[in-house]
This record gives sequence, C-alpha cells and structure tokens, in this order.
Amino acid sequence: MALPVVAIVGRPNVGKSTLFNRIINQRLAIVEDKPGVTRDRNYAQAEWMGHKFDLIDTGGITWEGGKIEEEIRAQAEIAIEEADVILFVTDGKLGVTDDDRYICKMLYKSSKPIILAVNKIDDGHLVTGLLEFYSLGIGDPIEVSGIHGIGTGDVLDEVVKIMPPRKKDKEIEGQIKFCMIGRPNVGKSSLTNAILNLDRVIVSSIEGTTRDAIDTPFR
Ligand code: GDP
Ligand code: MG
Repeated sequence: MALPVVAIVGRPNVGKSTLFNRIINQRLAIVEDKPGVTRDRNYAQAEWMGHKFDLIDTGGITWEGGKIEEEIRAQAEIAIEEADVILFVTDGKLGVTDDDRYICKMLYKSSKPIILAVNKIDDGHLVTGLLEFYSLGIGDPIEVSGIHGIGTGDVLDEVVKIMPPRKKDKEIEGQIKFCMIGRPNVGKSSLTNAILNLDRVIVSSIEGTTRDAIDTPFR
C-alpha cells in the first residue's frame, strides 16, 4: 500500500530540515544556520497517531538566485507535485517575506491542501506578529518550534486530518538496498539519475553539490 505524501516546503533557513528530523524522530537531514544546505528531495517514513505517511524535506525556495537555486526550486516543485498535503514552513522571527509570498503563489497553483507553520516560536506566542501570516491567505497559522518540539503535535494533528487514506499499490517485498558511493565529482548523481531515468538529484560540475544522503526506490 502506498502511503500518503506530505511535503515540507518553504524559503531557505526557516527550519524545514529541523522539523523534518523532529517529525521522523531521527537526525537524517543536515541542519545548519545558513541557507541552501538542503538541495535534493529527502524522503522518510513518519507516523502520527497511527497514521503512516511519507515525509519529504525539500531545499529552500527563493525567487532570486542563480542556477543552483533554480535546480533546488525544480526539486521542490516535484515534491509539491507528489504531495497530498503541503506543510508550508515560515519563520516567526523574521515575519512574512517576498519569498513567502512567491511560494504561496506556487502553492495556490498546485491546489494542494496546505498547513501553515510559523517556526522559531521558542518561547510562548507571537501575539501581534502572528497576524501578518493571515495575509498569506492560507488560513490559521500554527506556531511551532522545531528545535524545542513545541507545537509539532498540533501541526501533525492538522496534517493527518486532511490526509487521504492509503493508496492501493503493489506491496514491495524483499527490497534490496544498495548504495552509491565515491569521491566528489566522479558522477554518482548523474549515474543515479540515469539508472532511475529521472532528475532525482541535482547534477553539477561543482564538487560537493549533493549534501544529504538521498534514498529512492527503484524497480
Ligand atoms: P531549512 O533551511 O529550512 O531546512 O532550515 P534548518 O532546519 O537547516 O534550520 C536553519 C537554522 O534555523 C538552523 O540554525 C536551526 O538550528 C534554526 N532553527 C530551526 N528551527 C528552529 C526553532 O524552532 N527555533 C530557533 N530559534 N531556531 C531554529
Ligand atoms: Mg534544509
């Protein structure tokens, strides 16, 4: 049975990977205090109140920038396309930005159900600051702190409420796992994409383009 898919999207450095790790209860995604760390789509299985789902962490979407930003955006768009529910993450310390509005437009176009999380609310509540998040037109913002695990249960309650049931699919049994390793820039990502016949990971001639270790099923 295929699981419902939840994609975490937002602009760079708002705490998407922190929330991803918190929800799956593992330190899978790389978290760092600088934008553009996450690049490819990162998948993991998650569960809340007996509801299993696939969770995707994505790279930060920004309307400006160069080639790598464009590639990151393309990867995030694939995740939005695949998702049944979007978890849109914003930064309560910084408020609503142009990138947030840009992402909103992308999300409206997808017509997917969206849950709006305002992250980095580490101590209590944003009393007036929260109001501006209503201007995004997504509905009630939910205050969270990915670092402290505050409010993540409220977000997940909303996510599972609007999540579709499992989709019927052929059971995958006896899955074999293999791993692509090698030194930087030898062509691991190109080979991965070629085998999958997909733009699964970003390929560039710049060493160190791939950051997270990316899992993907293949038949
Ligand atoms: P991403 O780029 O959206 O994936 O963001 P990351 O998860 O990598 O986090 C970016 C930075 O924000 C890191 O320094 C995190 O430690 C920090 N951060 C994430 N969540 C919170 C939070 O709830 N509160 C605060 N104060 N910082 C956070
Ligand atoms: Mg990240």
